[in-house]
Amino acid sequence: MTQDELRALIRTVPDFPAKGIQFRDITTLLNHGAGLNATIAHLADMARASGAEAIAGMEARGFIFGAAVAVQLGLGFVPVRKPGKLPVETIGIDYALEYGSDRLEIDPSLIADGQRVAIVDDLIATGGTALAAAELLRTAGADVGHALFVIDLPDLGGADRLRAADLSVEALIQFE
Ligand code: IMP
Repeated sequence: MTQDELRALIRTVPDFPAKGIQFRDITTLLNHGAGLNATIAHLADMARASGAEAIAGMEARGFIFGAAVAVQLGLGFVPVRKPGKLPVETIGIDYALEYGSDRLEIDPSLIADGQRVAIVDDLIATGGTALAAAELLRTAGADVGHALFVIDLPDLGGADRLRAADLSVEALIQFE
């Protein structure tokens, strides 16, 4: 499938979660067998080319795409979780959102020192979530050089912020 065909499978929901926001909803893509298959194949190609030795994905939509990519490449998956979910000792990072803040946590024992870990998520907007995940994984000893997304919203400048933090950024689909 072409990137235009994949783009057409994303549903845009106006005024969600707040008035004025155009929410890019990937559930319609997930529900399309050929579209999902092609999306994972593209992401897996990017992850393979990055030399990734493990895949990390952010809760919750990053779990869907990241785990599928990991399976495709025969690599392990590192869940980057919302706070309080992991049953072991964690390391965490607080990061700013447009309104308020959020927190991500990982189990650092899942990362081998110097292991090349690629980040996978559904969408990059401001880049805050992916930057926080990269910093957290790096704190645990990972070599994080690549962040891969289904969707980029380039007007929000997230990819540029990630590049400034030494991350190579690729996305399958752009929405202006
Ligand atoms: P950022 O931290 O501003 O880059 O926002 C990216 C995070 O918010 C990702 O984990 C996305 O899943 C989520 N997100 C933000 N906007 C959208 C959207 O329009 N559709 C789906 N997810 C979104």
